[in-house]
Amino acid sequence: MTLISFPFSAILGWSASRHDAFSFCKRHYYYQYYPKFDSEHSVAKIQTLKGLTSRALAIGSLAHLGIEALLKRLEKSTAPIDLERFSAYMKQQAALFVQQNKFEEEYYKSGAVPDAAELGQAALDYVQQFLNSQRYAWISALPDATRKNWMIEPGGYGETRINDLKAYCKVDFLLQHNGITYIFDWKTGKEDPEKHAKQMLGYALFAHANLGVPFDQIELQLHYLSGTETQVHIGEGDLQKFEERVQSETQEMYSYCSNIESNIPLPKESFPMTEHERLCGYCKFRELCGRA
Ligand code: SF4
Repeated sequence: MTLISFPFSAILGWSASRHDAFSFCKRHYYYQYYPKFDSEHSVAKIQTLKGLTSRALAIGSLAHLGIEALLKRLEKSTAPIDLERFSAYMKQQAALFVQQNKFEEEYYKSGAVPDAAELGQAALDYVQQFLNSQRYAWISALPDATRKNWMIEPGGYGETRINDLKAYCKVDFLLQHNGITYIFDWKTGKEDPEKHAKQMLGYALFAHANLGVPFDQIELQLHYLSGTETQVHIGEGDLQKFEERVQSETQEMYSYCSNIESNIPLPKESFPMTEHERLCGYCKFRELCGRA
C-alpha cells in the first residue's frame, strides 16, 4: 500500500477536534492552537495547561496503547496472548503515563486524582473486551498476506486533502483484505454513533486521497470498546455533505487569521471568552481566564 504524503505548509488544517475547540470557545481555541502569539501568559504556562490530562483521557489513551500493542503482536504471531504478561505491560504503561502527565483533577483540585493501578485496570478491562470480541477473532483469522500492510496507529496526524483543503483524519487501524479497505476507530467514551459516524467519513476521504482507494471499496467500523460495533454506511450525498462541512468550517477558522497562508491569528481580543460560563468548568485554561 503506497501512502501519499504532502509537503509542509503552514496553513491551518481542518480536523474534527480543531473545529470542536473553535466551537467550544474562541479563547479556548486561541490558547490551544496559538499559544506562542499570546503576550499575556508565557508559552510554558499555556503549554502546561494544554498538556493537562484527565481520568477519561488517560483511560482512552492507555486502551488505545494496549490495542496497538496487541495488533502489532498479531502482525507477527497468532499465538495465544500471555494475559499475565500483558496485564503487567498495561500496569507499566499506566505507571509511566502517571509519571509523565499532569492531571486536571490534581491541578484544579476538581476531583480524586486517579492512580496508576486504577487507570491500568480500567484500560485493561477495555482491552480484554476487545480480546474477547468477534472482531479480534476475525482479525486473528485473516490470512498472513494481509498483515504486511496493516496501518496500526500510524505516526503523524493523518494529513490529507479534502477538496484541496488541508485536513487531518487519523485512523486507528486500517487493513486491506479481499479488495476491501477496512478502517477501524476504537472508542472508549460514551456511545454517540451519529456524531462518531460523521467523523468516520473523514477516514474514508483519507483512504481515498492518500491511498487511492475507491469509496465503494471502503468499509468503516466504529468499534466501542464497551462491546458494540457499528458499520458506518456511506450514504448517497454523505461525502459531499462532509466535504461541504469541511469547506465551511475551514473558512470560519480562516476568518480568525490575519494571515491565512502563514496561519497567523488575529489579536487575542478577537477570540472572545465564552458567555456560557458553565463550559469553563470543563476547560483546561480556566486559570488564565480567572474562571477556575
Ligand atoms: S475558561 Fe472559559 S472562557 Fe476561558 S478559555 Fe476556557 S472556556 Fe473559554
